[in-house]
Amino acid sequence: MDTDLFVAWFEETARLVRRDRDRLTRLDAAIGDADHGTNLDRGLTEVRKALTEWPPESPVQVLTSAGTALIRRVGGASGPLYGSVFRQMGKALDSPVTLAGFSAAFDEGVVAVERLGKAAPGDKTMVDALAPASRALALAVRDGVGVREAFEQAARAAAEGARATIPMQARKGRASYLGERSIGHEDPGAASSALFMAALATVAS
Ligand code: ADP
Ligand code: MG
Repeated sequence: MDTDLFVAWFEETARLVRRDRDRLTRLDAAIGDADHGTNLDRGLTEVRKALTEWPPESPVQVLTSAGTALIRRVGGASGPLYGSVFRQMGKALDSPVTLAGFSAAFDEGVVAVERLGKAAPGDKTMVDALAPASRALALAVRDGVGVREAFEQAARAAAEGARATIPMQARKGRASYLGERSIGHEDPGAASSALFMAALATVAS
């Protein structure tokens, strides 16, 4: 997995977030403050700009640059959380990048989010999509599955994880202020995490 693949990952994510911006914002309108789609779209525009202005020379540089741009420009709760996924992943990534290395580094990114947000699976956050995706990747590595299939499995796990947040009651973030009224809506951060994983599957195919 080379630098171009990592750049393509963020470009495709930017495209999907732009396409689904209004849906993400509607999800956030139901249980938050109606800014998740615009926040993330703004952040990913900045990521694309950073990757164009300072062409990265390695996958680690892509992750660090993208993570930094997300922290600077997304804002809200999700900016620092997404930023830490990719910055921590960058710190943990060995080169050359193999599927096993990607999986291990991605898991460190997910653990960083859990630590920073003090969120666990079941709290109705982005962790409910990211953690199943990470687990799916680890299983794919264990089973010797190819890169394309592994990323497809991770994308499916993330999408299922996002859907599974619908009946949950939020225990973290703004949505938790709603108590039981947060039940019945998909978590916007879990929905956007599923887009990151869908983009990965697309660029690997
Ligand atoms: P804000 O809530 O500040 O408006 P966003 O709307 O951009 O920020 O992002 C909201 C998303 O952030 C939520 O849907 C949830 O997935 C995620 N989130 C919020 N708080 C936490 C947390 N403590 N841990 C993990 N994820 C969180
Ligand atoms: Mg919000």
